Amino acid sequence: MADAPTLNPFEISQRQLDKSAEKLNLDPQVHAFLREPMRTLEVHFPVRMDDGTSKVFTGFRVQYNDARGPTKGGLRFHPEETIDTVKALAAWMTWKCAVVDIPYGGGKGGVICNPKELSVGEVERVARGYIRAIGRFIGPERDIPAPDVYTTPQIMAWMVDEYSTIIGYNAPGVITGKPIPVGGSLGRGDATARGAVYTILEAAKVIGLNLKDATVAVQGYGNAGYFAAKLMEELAGSRVVAVTDSRGGVYVADGIDPQAAFTHKKATGSVSGLAGSKAVTNQELLELDVDVLVPAAIENVITEKNAGAVKAKLIAEVANGPTIPEADEILYKNGKYIIPDFLCNAGGVTVSYFEWVQNIGGYYWNLEEVQKRLKEKMTHAFHDIHKMAEVNNVDNRTAAYMVAVQRVAEAMRLRGWV
Ligand code: GLU
Repeated sequence: MADAPTLNPFEISQRQLDKSAEKLNLDPQVHAFLREPMRTLEVHFPVRMDDGTSKVFTGFRVQYNDARGPTKGGLRFHPEETIDTVKALAAWMTWKCAVVDIPYGGGKGGVICNPKELSVGEVERVARGYIRAIGRFIGPERDIPAPDVYTTPQIMAWMVDEYSTIIGYNAPGVITGKPIPVGGSLGRGDATARGAVYTILEAAKVIGLNLKDATVAVQGYGNAGYFAAKLMEELAGSRVVAVTDSRGGVYVADGIDPQAAFTHKKATGSVSGLAGSKAVTNQELLELDVDVLVPAAIENVITEKNAGAVKAKLIAEVANGPTIPEADEILYKNGKYIIPDFLCNAGGVTVSYFEWVQNIGGYYWNLEEVQKRLKEKMTHAFHDIHKMAEVNNVDNRTAAYMVAVQRVAEAMRLRGWV
């Protein structure tokens, strides 16, 4: 019997790179360097708990590649965090920053913890403890964290405060995704989803899909999923018929009110049980007969087992790593149009970049300015990749890798690394 496909995200990221390296005829030394992170840090730090005891937490920070600029990428607070997940996500950040052509390398971090089981004070002390542990390795010109799974603007505010206290002056540019009063940017809140919707608008044009009244299913109802649902209605005029979260999901043929689903989730902890809806599982959602499928939750949800049953014409990967390579092949054969994760969800880091620029310049933009520049970046990146896919007759993920890897390799070459 053939081995089951790997679900190790780092191995998956390496396989994706290998595929594009072959197409690009990439220099073997460049390829070897890009297969591994440039720097990996593991830290252990004590945190005072509410009951007076002290507990040791483990954290990671991976600086994958900084040929194009300081490393950049989010921090996850996750009970199942592993170094391999962080390494994969740091690699994807490298490609993400390169496809939207912002002057950053890629990084990622994480702390093994379950914020749902910690008090607010404990979360704050974990955040500050982590910054004390990694503080000397980050900085506005070195490595710039941001929010990700289970981390919030409030957590970023504590972190920027801790870092500023350590270095002795205010350094808002060390972390992005901050609340507005401590140097955050307007438009960062919905930036990931907004960027994704801008790419969906372009993809619909090239595949001839009329988004007005098109049906949409969204998996995951955190920040990105909720705003994706809301903006698909507002910007594309589409009808969101199904949404799920980790606890369950709902289907309404006439369309769900994204705001009502959000309010329901806030009140009850899940979108499940929304008035007037039918129940739908996470698995069922992926196979619904809809026009647009938006995986916006976690990695490895579209596999060789369910890819053949996906009916949506357009798949917009708002989550990082939702599709494994074996599923990619099936979807490509079935003629599905994928907007790959590190293009689709690059809006978050793009507005993080705008935030950092504003922090460094000390001059803040209005919302229209942020959104106009975000649209330009996303639209441009989409067409770079669409063109690469057409010219080389490859799937969009391989094309996205080809665009990104070429840009990073060129910076490495100019620096004289290879
Ligand atoms: N965590 C987000 C991502 O995966 C944003 C990263 C950032 O803003 O630096 O793209």
